Amino acid sequence: MSPSGPPRSARSHSRPRKPSPEQTARAWARKLDAKRPGLLSFVLDRLAETNGRPVWRPRLDPTSELVLTILSQNSADTNAEVAFAALRDAYPSAPVSSNATAAPNALPGWGGRGLPDLPPPNWSAVEAAPLAELIEVIRPGGLGPQKAPRIQAALRALQANGGSYSLEFLASTPPLEARDWLAAIPGIGKKTASVVLLFSFGVPLMPVDRHVHRVSQRIGLIPPKTDPDGAHDLYLAMLQPDRMYEAHVSLITHGRRTCHAQRPDCEHCPLAPRCRYFDRKAE
Ligand code: SF4
Repeated sequence: MSPSGPPRSARSHSRPRKPSPEQTARAWARKLDAKRPGLLSFVLDRLAETNGRPVWRPRLDPTSELVLTILSQNSADTNAEVAFAALRDAYPSAPVSSNATAAPNALPGWGGRGLPDLPPPNWSAVEAAPLAELIEVIRPGGLGPQKAPRIQAALRALQANGGSYSLEFLASTPPLEARDWLAAIPGIGKKTASVVLLFSFGVPLMPVDRHVHRVSQRIGLIPPKTDPDGAHDLYLAMLQPDRMYEAHVSLITHGRRTCHAQRPDCEHCPLAPRCRYFDRKAE
């Protein structure tokens, strides 16, 4: 090689390196901020005025959260809760305290009605259950033949990791490392992993479901062809960590109540002044 650099032929054929997803996300965040300043804050503040500002608080224990999230894949959240309650009934834990028999408290659901505050199922029994039996137990949630093996695979992975079904170790694991650990379990994608970490520990990750994705695209918070995994990366670059939970819950709520997939109610939408679906030139 000459002192002035690579040979001419190598120089002429070298291609610019493809930017990493993180670089692409940071570039988009800078562009959005320059062209439509304060858009994301506007969206969250307006939604907070309309629906209240969601505040994170723990819901279920992390392993229950993981199993409930698997049960909610491609199913209504209310059905997932019915299936989770069926798991508790079919594979009960030994009572852990006198509270276990107290009147149940409804916990806020992720779109469902909420679950009674009772001990989790006996995970060992769930893992060891004959597959056909487990499929039958969770049938009310839908897609039992797909979800039963996923649940057992997840429980096996937890056991193999540290000899228990606890996920508490993820609380002190760096967010992306924790997400990748969960997403390595068969049947657990980036979204499911992010839901578990966000809801269980308040880890600042942004699960992008169909509501978050649709609302974000319509407003123009993300480029039109971005898929949900790409949108997840964009949100990590665009949003302050302490607003991740708020953004997730607020956008889902808005998608359910106002920005429906069919016929969104733009006339009554507080975001209309800055929504590109409503006005293609909105700033
Ligand atoms: S203006 Fe319409 S499309 Fe835009 S966010 Fe509101 S409901 Fe959705």
